Amino acid sequence: MQRVQTDVLVIGSGVAGLYAALKLSELAQVMLVTKSAWHQSNSSQAQGGIAVAVGDGDSVAAHVQDTLRSGCGLNNREAVEVLAAYSFSVLDDLLRLGVPFDTDLAGRLELGREGFHSFPRVIHAGGDATGASIVHTLMQCVQAEENISVYEQTFVEQLVADGARCLGALLFTQGKHVLVQADAVILATGGCGQLYRETTNTLFSTGDGMAVASEAGAELVDMEFVQFHPTALAVPVHPKPLISEAVRGEGAVLVNGQGEPFMVQYHAWADLAPRDVVARAIFDQQQKGQRVYLDTTRLGSVFERRFPTIYRRCRELGFDPVTQPLPVTPAAHFIMGGVWTDEWGRTALDGLYACGEVACTGVHGANRLASNSLLEALVFANRIAEALREDINRMAAATAVMDVQPRFTDRHYALSARELMNHQATRELQEMMWADAGLVRTASGLNRLEAKLHEWESAWAHHHPVWWHMVRVAQAITRSALARTESRGAHYRADYPDEREEWRHIRTKWRRSTHECSPVTGTVETSVN
Ligand SMILES: Cc1cc2nc3c(=O)[nH]c(=O)nc-3n(C[C@H](O)[C@H](O)[C@H](O)COP(=O)(O)OP(=O)(O)OC[C@H]3O[C@@H](n4cnc5c(N)ncnc54)[C@H](O)[C@@H]3O)c2cc1C
Repeated sequence: MQRVQTDVLVIGSGVAGLYAALKLSELAQVMLVTKSAWHQSNSSQAQGGIAVAVGDGDSVAAHVQDTLRSGCGLNNREAVEVLAAYSFSVLDDLLRLGVPFDTDLAGRLELGREGFHSFPRVIHAGGDATGASIVHTLMQCVQAEENISVYEQTFVEQLVADGARCLGALLFTQGKHVLVQADAVILATGGCGQLYRETTNTLFSTGDGMAVASEAGAELVDMEFVQFHPTALAVPVHPKPLISEAVRGEGAVLVNGQGEPFMVQYHAWADLAPRDVVARAIFDQQQKGQRVYLDTTRLGSVFERRFPTIYRRCRELGFDPVTQPLPVTPAAHFIMGGVWTDEWGRTALDGLYACGEVACTGVHGANRLASNSLLEALVFANRIAEALREDINRMAAATAVMDVQPRFTDRHYALSARELMNHQATRELQEMMWADAGLVRTASGLNRLEAKLHEWESAWAHHHPVWWHMVRVAQAITRSALARTESRGAHYRADYPDEREEWRHIRTKWRRSTHECSPVTGTVETSVN
């Protein structure tokens, strides 16, 4: 097997991976690998923007408070404070690098409004093409950097670890395995929305990073907290096109089949209530036999100017948001949980760092505030680079001989990403997860799901590395959802419909070796003041 050596291996080409690579290239030789083409990621799809408290009257304290309120008492307050405080330097850096954020005629950043933010604070680019603009700018910088080499269509099959220390990774690329030895490995592999039948996530969001990290001995935390976005366009395509929350921020309103607004019945913030509340309200309406629409006609011609990408996609699919309400439905969108890290991106395994959606600092608590995710990816990618300034010499000094046996052969990699996601086995897994680990959960459904996952694992997981990864993450979500016998934020148990005081300060940690959950100790939550 071919062996390669690098200072730092970065896995993933979303904003987290690209920004980490860029920052780390100032101190080390970086190898960046991604299983897709470089621009194919959830990051490239991000619409609404990035939350930064730059508006009149806004403050870091208000941003912190809104994030904690949305997180339902489960956030790691220290991480939240880091997120809000570092948002300004990240914004300055993105402007310096050339991200074309939208400005008004006076040259001031335009600020959008999204759910549960107490101020307009969402900066955006190209109207609703924020993610693509940032990814494009970062990639240009990465390509100009001599210290970074980029490898596309390169799949990370396993991390290599000796129990306490991550030593590198086993890759599959161009029909063969390659073993990479690295002083430090940065996981930036994004989320796992593709576990669900209804999702806004790209075909590449299959939870690989969480699976390989847990196999190597890292811990997965808060895995029961999957965020379902309220307003995916209700059309029979996979993944579902997202109608950004910023559209409601501009005045669009959710209505039932009779054209009646209904969100006032569910929350004082009505259409701008937290995502979990809005998603469950829509689900509730659907259970009552209603179709749900987003009345975008109230925006008139503003829609096309402010949301050109969404407008184009709607038109392609036969809808005109200016003249007709859009049919919408909830869809899996984001996972608050992931690989446990401290506030510097360090995981429980020495030499392994994680940032972006794959990681879990606890910053989002039980429910992520809109537009905090791109920010999280950027802030903590930068923190990893800062941490590695100290850590890298210690890492480089450690010499260990790596050996690993591939679990899969080239035969197993025959399916393309599209074929894999269209496969009946994938559909079956997504259907099971949607039914029993979706917006509304019960012990009986989750127990049934665990048993079905076990059967599915024996039948399918050994036939493709992505299936192997998907089932691990599905198991972590299911076991964590069973463990949390209460409802909080995005995790709703119909058999335990209320928040329970005894769970208020408990975050769950899942270990692959035992398939058991235990409470996270140490950097646990702090609630809203
Ligand atoms: C439609 C949509 C709109 C959104 N809008 C917003 C928004 O407006 N604001 C906001 O803050 N957040 C938004 N989000 C969420 C946000 O985009 C993501 O949480 C964030 O971009 C995650 O960035 P990331 O770099 O961690 O992961 P990603 O952008 O998902 O990138 C992951 C990368 O890892 C690679 N990868 C995965 N597995 C492997 C493997 N085994 N081997 C090699 N490479 C691998 C993938 O190919 C990809 O390049 C949105 C999400 C979606 C889906």
